[in-house]
Amino acid sequence: MTPAFSVCVYCGSKPGASPEFARTARAVGRWIGEHGGQLVYGGGKNGLMGILADATLDAGGRVVGIIPTALVEKEWAHHECTELHVVETMHERKRLMAEQADAFLALPGGIGTFEEFFEVWTWRQLGYHDKPVGLLNLAGYYDPLVSFLQSTVRQGFMGDWQMDLIRIESDPEGLLRELVQAAGLAPAARVEQI
Ligand code: AMP
Repeated sequence: MTPAFSVCVYCGSKPGASPEFARTARAVGRWIGEHGGQLVYGGGKNGLMGILADATLDAGGRVVGIIPTALVEKEWAHHECTELHVVETMHERKRLMAEQADAFLALPGGIGTFEEFFEVWTWRQLGYHDKPVGLLNLAGYYDPLVSFLQSTVRQGFMGDWQMDLIRIESDPEGLLRELVQAAGLAPAARVEQI
């Protein structure tokens, strides 16, 4: 069955210091699965990435994992994904992830997450795609980044219009719904798993 929407989620390959991060990664995966969606992600089993994928699968969602050969062992590739693509390079991974998604969402994570989020944001600014991009500012995790970005506007290196290209929210379900709707799609009616 064709998924109602496909969302590419970037997040930490580590679980983070607070249990709230894992709880929210689980809630995001559950929401995607329960609303007939497909998760596209980096294909790893570690940290928030694995928690997110497992929760999507458990809730009946499709999971497309895309991982470079060099990371199959390091990130512990998730072989239970609905589709697992092992690709040659990081560039190929990111291109495939971007192609398969209707929208992008970054959860808390480290530099890999930042790099992926900034890439799809800059691609959006350049007009390479017009898919919505969201940043989940869970428990204030991204407050320092948001302050820094606002300061780059004040310092004249970025315009307000660039900030307006991303959606920054603290509520995961509200942000997911907004991203899916901004992509011109609708989440399926909630399906309870038994
Ligand atoms: P991290 O947020 O650092 O835990 O990394 C999250 C994910 O981003 C992992 O799947 C990493 O493989 C991936 N990643 C790390 N470096 C890069 C990079 N330069 N470009 C794209 N993804 C990366």
